Amino acid sequence: MAAVDVDGLERWLRLFASSVAEQQDTLTALDAAIGDADHGANMNRGMTAVVDALAATPADDPAALLKQTGMVLVRSVGGASGPLYGTFFLRMAPATGGASALEPEVFAKALRAGVEGVVSRGKAELGDKTMYDALAPAVDALDAALGAGDPLADALRAASAAADQGRDATIPLVARKGRASYLGDRSADHQDPGATSAALLIAAAAAAVAE
Ligand code: ADP
Ligand code: MG
Ligand code: MG
Repeated sequence: MAAVDVDGLERWLRLFASSVAEQQDTLTALDAAIGDADHGANMNRGMTAVVDALAATPADDPAALLKQTGMVLVRSVGGASGPLYGTFFLRMAPATGGASALEPEVFAKALRAGVEGVVSRGKAELGDKTMYDALAPAVDALDAALGAGDPLADALRAASAAADQGRDATIPLVARKGRASYLGDRSADHQDPGATSAALLIAAAAAAVAE
């Protein structure tokens, strides 16, 4: 696919929703170890609401769809991850420039705007053991691959591999943001739940564009 339109974005959201549903217990088990055991339920509730909204109020263009998704997540998820994932999609929306189909560079720019929204909202830095540790390498890899002339599908596969590496790299880290930071050194040797769901988000984007 050359450009990402409303159908492509819907595929992304539905694929993310189904992998969150599939991985709900894993996400919750990760959060049970260093948080409050609700990340799987939070994300599943949110993405179920996002998919319901796709049918209830179909969006005409990418910006409207992304904005609706962000608002539904803020409203339905709560906790730390609701406002963070919500902000991600809310910040993607204006970065589309109102286009009806997002060229690869525009999609990449919108993803980066979303990631920057996560940072401005949550103040995480690299290595704080958060979702940002998966998202930051993903958008960097995406830009690098597009800059090298790769097609979007290949570039998103590279982004997904980078997100997986970033997720895995959270294991030894001591958390400096969110509930896990309350544990201090005891947060080490556990994979961050938000970095795990964020890697699913990027994997879903790669799958949606490859289809
Ligand atoms: P809560 O901690 O409120 O129960 P969740 O369990 O749904 O929320 O989400 C926890 C995840 O949120 C963490 O694993 C981490 O990746 C992410 N997170 C928490 N605080 C921040 C932050 N300030 N910036 C980025 N991500 C964060
Ligand atoms: Mg939690
Ligand atoms: Mg909670």
